[in-house]
Amino acid sequence: MEIHVITLFPEMFESPFRTGMIGRAIEQGLIVLKTHPLREFGLGNYRQVDDAPYGGGSGMVMRPEPIADAIDTVNAQCPGLWRVLMTPQGEVFDQAIAREFVGHAPGLMIIAGRYEGIDERVRALVDQEISIGDYVLSGGELPAMVVIEAVGRLIPGVLGNPESLDEESFAAGLLEYPQYTRPDEFRGMRVPDILLGGDHGKIREWRAAESRRRTARRRPDLLERRRP
Ligand code: SAM
Repeated sequence: MEIHVITLFPEMFESPFRTGMIGRAIEQGLIVLKTHPLREFGLGNYRQVDDAPYGGGSGMVMRPEPIADAIDTVNAQCPGLWRVLMTPQGEVFDQAIAREFVGHAPGLMIIAGRYEGIDERVRALVDQEISIGDYVLSGGELPAMVVIEAVGRLIPGVLGNPESLDEESFAAGLLEYPQYTRPDEFRGMRVPDILLGGDHGKIREWRAAESRRRTARRRPDLLERRRP
């Protein structure tokens, strides 16, 4: 899968994706991650990418032309990418959207904003606007990384044990059951006997029940959404 990011700060993407699962997937060629420095598409000698807002107000707004030129250039290099604009005003990203994104061949083009925001007309140039939550960050780079990480681990072959995807939180619209490892007892807290017994049928039932109970207690909204 190809993932192209248009950003003013391409260097931010270097270290996070050099290590771990996504780093390995990049090495293996399962993910091709390319950053495109927006500054190179800036206007004039100063490579200007922002300007004062029409109508006045604080801060600067990203001009549409450099972003449009960057989108056209990336599109010419790799046609058919699903164009995603990172914005706190977008659809809130979740596991279902991550799964949809994996299905977009040949991949994604992610546009990270900065400053007070982006000229409204850029919205017409993208396929989807995505927020990572109801808070405001200074730039779209971290949100883009969140999307890349969540989507990347769903790409077939990226995860060592793909079955774990079926069981983890949100896979079936529920939170995952409680996990334990050694020791059997830690500071007076014991691992539930059922997990030590080795009866895999009973363990499956216990986990399914715990997963429902935990979701009902912590995220009843997820259960509401599951109802037909
Ligand atoms: N003034 C804008 C508003 O109120 O909607 C916020 C601009 S924010 C300071 C600058 C950039 O950071 C945005 O263009 C966007 O790319 C990114 N950003 C900030 N918070 C985000 C979030 N929750 N989800 C996705 N992108 C976000």
